[in-house]
Amino acid sequence: MSFETFNLHPSVMAGVRALGYSMPTPIQSQVIPPIMQGRDVIGLAQTGTGKTAAFVLPILQHLRQNPRKRIRALIISPTRELAEQTCKVISKLGSKTSLQSVAIYGGVSMEQQNRGLRSGAEIIVACPGRLLDHLWKGTISLSELEILVIDEADRMFDMGFLPDIRNILRCILHKRQTLLFSATMPAGIRRLVREILHNPVTVQIGQTLPAKTVSHALYPVQQHLKTTLLKEILRKTRTESVLVFTRTKHRAARVAQQLIIAGYRVASLQGNLSQNQRQAALTGFRTGSIKVLVATDIAARGIDVLSISHVINYDMPESTDDYIHRIGRTGRVDKNGDALTFVTDADAGKIRALEQLLDAPLERLTLRGFDYAKLVSDKEPRYSQRPRRRVVRRQEIGKQMATK
Ligand code: AMP
Repeated sequence: MSFETFNLHPSVMAGVRALGYSMPTPIQSQVIPPIMQGRDVIGLAQTGTGKTAAFVLPILQHLRQNPRKRIRALIISPTRELAEQTCKVISKLGSKTSLQSVAIYGGVSMEQQNRGLRSGAEIIVACPGRLLDHLWKGTISLSELEILVIDEADRMFDMGFLPDIRNILRCILHKRQTLLFSATMPAGIRRLVREILHNPVTVQIGQTLPAKTVSHALYPVQQHLKTTLLKEILRKTRTESVLVFTRTKHRAARVAQQLIIAGYRVASLQGNLSQNQRQAALTGFRTGSIKVLVATDIAARGIDVLSISHVINYDMPESTDDYIHRIGRTGRVDKNGDALTFVTDADAGKIRALEQLLDAPLERLTLRGFDYAKLVSDKEPRYSQRPRRRVVRRQEIGKQMATK
């Protein structure tokens, strides 16, 4: 299938060409036709599949037919980064249409957003909290909304945004076309779908499996040696951009600090940063001045950097869904990627679940020359103390129990 089969207007096709897309991705082939017919659609696809253009192109095609300088399409996004990214895709794909979009998210001045809204944007890409602020203040009206997109619905559910989304939906009671994109379908989202979509077409793009362009490997290692192993892997591996995931924001900050000391160009992306710091980290990573980004799951949502060569799970993700989300950042359209996961004995259950999902055993790798038996990690006083103290305490408790 080619883009020509969609019969998009030449001004919209100009955007497709400007971005250099030659063939639609599977999600685009399957959702663009029903969206253009006005159907409600559920797109089960993860980040990296081309899902943004899959809803942006039909929106541009629809809105350009009858411009009105009112808000006619709303895309609800879980994070400001994803909102910004989606706006960028809209402005690139819509560069030859006169349609404009505005990103609406918290942490920046409302007045600046009001100016964008007053300039006649027909598409808004909004995070739920700030959108509600605008709706309550009357600076945004959805009374003429024609298309509603709920993007990364499962992530919004995870982040606790469902009540906000329901409040937003109370402001759009009239008939409109609704599109919902999600990598997975937790029960809360299934309920929402039943309530707000009418006779939807469901398109599923291998959402439960990671892209085939990603190779997976496990690195068994003791917790206290993870940072030393990470540094060794970075030293010995050819990488372009590396995204490292940690379980907590404190760990993200600490690992980033250790890598900076070791001489790498690194930033951390975690909840404790100001908006400016987040933006600087993301821009640096996108432009290549920062080679390693250390992030938590939530902070990393919406990162869109095509050349991420390696995703390193410093900590095993909580669920297989999180694993897929994390590694969705590498091995994107036509590129290969590597997913390396550091695992400790405590991760055995999660590894089993992951291997079940992938339907294959995962390769266990060891780094040649690395001292896995080392009792303490290099230059990390915090680690050198803690694990030993904990082990001693457990042994003592064990002894006490044995003597009782
Ligand atoms: P998304 O899943 O929307 O985040 O898209 C992932 C990446 O794929 C983005 O960098 C897009 O620019 C790119 N992409 C989207 N559609 C196509 C296409 N038809 N051909 C090549 N790349 C694409």
